[in-house]
Amino acid sequence: MPKVIVIGGGLSGVTAARALHRAGIDVQLIEARDRLGGRILSVDDSGNSSGPFDLGPSWFWPGMQPDFGHFVNGAGVTSFAQSDTGDLLFQRGQGSVQRYSGMQQEPASMRMGGGTAALVSALARDLPADAIRLNTFATHLALTATGVDVTTDGGSLSAPHVLLAVPPRLLAAQIAFDPPIPASVLRLWQGTPTWMAPHAKLVVVYDRAFWHDAGLSGAARSQSGPLVEIHDATTAAGQAALFGFVGVPAKARVQSGAAAVIAASVQQLEQLFGPHAARPKATLYKDWAADPLTATPDDLTAGDHPSPNPGPWVEGAWQHRLTLIGSETSRTEPGYLAGAQEAAEAGAAALLARLL
Ligand SMILES: Cc1cc2nc3c(=O)[nH]c(=O)nc-3n(C[C@H](O)[C@H](O)[C@H](O)COP(=O)(O)OP(=O)(O)OC[C@H]3O[C@@H](n4cnc5c(N)ncnc54)[C@H](O)[C@@H]3O)c2cc1C
Repeated sequence: MPKVIVIGGGLSGVTAARALHRAGIDVQLIEARDRLGGRILSVDDSGNSSGPFDLGPSWFWPGMQPDFGHFVNGAGVTSFAQSDTGDLLFQRGQGSVQRYSGMQQEPASMRMGGGTAALVSALARDLPADAIRLNTFATHLALTATGVDVTTDGGSLSAPHVLLAVPPRLLAAQIAFDPPIPASVLRLWQGTPTWMAPHAKLVVVYDRAFWHDAGLSGAARSQSGPLVEIHDATTAAGQAALFGFVGVPAKARVQSGAAAVIAASVQQLEQLFGPHAARPKATLYKDWAADPLTATPDDLTAGDHPSPNPGPWVEGAWQHRLTLIGSETSRTEPGYLAGAQEAAEAGAAALLARLL
């Protein structure tokens, strides 16, 4: 029987499992998807996971998040600055386009070489293979005299402690607790927006970064859409790409379908960057609002950024058996990658202080 079960294999779950394993604690991580990473999804130009194009997070800011910068370096992951050399385009509501001289970002947004998933892969390499169970969806947690019984779609397992590395709002919607979580705590979970869950991201891969020919950075803002914010997404190895956040609301995206959103976005890129933009090598699209392992129906409208909330995230009968460690529960950087690391390390350290 493991000492600790970690539910959720995004950055927070993998970070906590690694910290516990390194401290000699027997840990079992369970993840519903067929891959680790959660909202971190880096694909190749065919859309297969494990590639350099980020359909989830791209950026971190070591200037503002120094601990996370050290964490990335310490995991052996390379980083490089977001390319922003050249002019920025601004597309007004009627479609007219204005050009502004580019502004250097300060502090710099950094990207990870090989895509953000390189960080998750590097962390997971420190875990024994049998400590990770993919394709395992937790449905029910029951408190026992000695710990917690976790029921999954593939059987059940038990441990004295459980770390919940699933966004709080998703937990409230997905997992049944016996005894029930107190109503005030459940309201906190339900009222905590899962950062970026309402959004969709499109990466458009090209044969070369042709926008630089015209002195453009590849960055654009648009009031007309469908892409509202566009950036250069060229990889560390030089595979040229642009990416954009889709401004069409989640429900309308479902109604129009992915193909229509992608076609309209490529047309918009042509209006902004010229005829070459109409000939992409690949289009890679991810609608996070349509992913039930990230979003709930409450996430279909764009929510606020979660603000730091000291909790308590668990109260009553569960408080010595359960700890929430997803990014949204971070006291310092909720919603961000840095928050996933902070919450996971804080949760693992508090547990270790009790176990060792
Ligand atoms: C499009 C997009 C862009 C973003 N951009 C940035 C950025 O540039 N910089 C930044 O700092 N942050 C960004 N973020 C936020 C960042 O991705 C998150 O803060 C971080 O990845 C959260 O990690 P997590 O482990 O807390 O949660 P998640 O990554 O959501 O992991 C939760 C895991 O739990 C699993 N799970 C869910 N339910 C169950 C269950 N019942 N049983 C088992 N497993 C379950 C899920 O499959 C998932 O793997 C972005 C997010 C998105 C979607």
